[in-house]
Amino acid sequence: MHYRVLGRTSLEVSRLCFGALTIGSLQANLPVAEGAGVIRKALEAGVNFIDTAELYETYDYIRQAIRGFERDVVITSKCYAYTYQDMRTSVEKALKELARDYIDIFMLHEQESILTIRGHWEAIEYLLEAKKKGTVRAIGISTHHVEGVLGAASVPEIDVIHPLINMSGIGIRGGSVEDMLKAIRVAARAGKGLYAMKALGGGNLLERTEEAFDFILSIPEIASVAVGMKTLEEVEYNTSLFSGQPIPEKLKSALRRQPRRLHLDDWCQGCGKCILKCRSGALSLSEGRAVVDRQLCTLCGYCAPACPNFCIKVV
Ligand code: SF4
Ligand code: SF4
Repeated sequence: MHYRVLGRTSLEVSRLCFGALTIGSLQANLPVAEGAGVIRKALEAGVNFIDTAELYETYDYIRQAIRGFERDVVITSKCYAYTYQDMRTSVEKALKELARDYIDIFMLHEQESILTIRGHWEAIEYLLEAKKKGTVRAIGISTHHVEGVLGAASVPEIDVIHPLINMSGIGIRGGSVEDMLKAIRVAARAGKGLYAMKALGGGNLLERTEEAFDFILSIPEIASVAVGMKTLEEVEYNTSLFSGQPIPEKLKSALRRQPRRLHLDDWCQGCGKCILKCRSGALSLSEGRAVVDRQLCTLCGYCAPACPNFCIKVV
């Protein structure tokens, strides 16, 4: 495994980051022991970086996976807090459920621009205090938006940016692949550490995995890439690929599978709650039921918890 320092932080992270969204209740919903085993296999293969969020409900998996592990593991989490108190509650929950006395990076989840970052300023003030106390080591934002990256680049208090970028531009908001690459360069020049998300376009680029990873790993400003993994085979494939090892044909064929898709059950009542959660504009109502535009859907799974009838699944 190869490692890079994340911007001006002192955090040295593996080029492959374990994206924990996939194992949790929003997506594969693995039993905790099984999901923890998948993470642990990645750690044993040299991954030292785990990306999660309060929303993903994966702290139990991570706590089990790192228990007794002899090397340092860098953990990111994120939340949507606006206020000082709500951010404090989120950070304290993460520390308690991860059984740690610090978290490496804590982020504002899904920022859109400098305006939304300013709107969360009280929450950032809590993170700044936590950083002074040592309970948070770096402050960040995650974003699908070109303006989110540019906004964060202009804020000295933000250390790390987690942008959406992939070779086809799937899910990038407010610009093209080129626009996002330019924003990433601006952020790197401002000293921000950057690690990417959705390199496989939320599963839409699975058929072109090697090409998609070649693209993302060729971006010099990107220190690491968060990749969702839910099986031991996926861990073996991705850790080999990121380490520059040859991938056995047998493993490739074991992983060849149909692209995933968002499934909406036919008992949908058309309440529209899921639509409010979709930042990609992929959901709408048609004839009293939710429908998905698969071109816009990044398979993030964020809409699923909003459904009171459990209609939404990634299959
Ligand atoms: S429809 Fe759901 S899974 Fe697709 S992008 Fe929107 S929130 Fe994410
Ligand atoms: S939240 Fe569930 S019931 Fe409501 S519109 Fe969306 S899928 Fe349908």
